[in-house]
Amino acid sequence: MPDSPAALSPAPHAGHDHRDCVRAALDAAERQCGRNGARLTAVRKRVLELVWDSHAPVGAYALLDALKAEGQNAAPPTVYRALDFLLDQGLVHRLERLNAYVGCPHPMGPHSAQFLICQSCGQVLELEDPAIGAAIRAGAERLGFLVSRQTIEVEGLCQACRIQTA
Ligand SMILES: [Zn+2]
Ligand SMILES: [Zn+2]
Ligand SMILES: [Zn+2]
Repeated sequence: MPDSPAALSPAPHAGHDHRDCVRAALDAAERQCGRNGARLTAVRKRVLELVWDSHAPVGAYALLDALKAEGQNAAPPTVYRALDFLLDQGLVHRLERLNAYVGCPHPMGPHSAQFLICQSCGQVLELEDPAIGAAIRAGAERLGFLVSRQTIEVEGLCQACRIQTA
């Protein structure tokens, strides 16, 4: 059964306990991989943990540096292979414009999502509104266009930063 978005969606409130987010994400990853018979190997799991270090997107080379700093003999293909696996499992998303990765708070296999990117703190909220995806598919269909993938990136200010700047 897909996890309900409400249960796992960790809005990055200022002062929330991020360890809960990481724990929930890793639990969800284990379940997701178990369902698919996919192996969450040590390096894949570590890369997922590193992506979940915060709610801000992280680039592949920052992940590589973090692995090397831990004494792992990692090369770029190690990181990219792990990221490809995590993307395939729907455990992380790639933000195209930032060329960076962010953990999915409610992994349930591949899904289209909308990302709210805070221009002040850099944190990303995942908005998963099926109505938006459906509206895009319907609009595209009217033009004879078949959508294979959609990544919507929206910039603005998150709630915590709005309160701070108010
Ligand atoms: Zn968190
Ligand atoms: Zn997602
Ligand atoms: Zn913010």
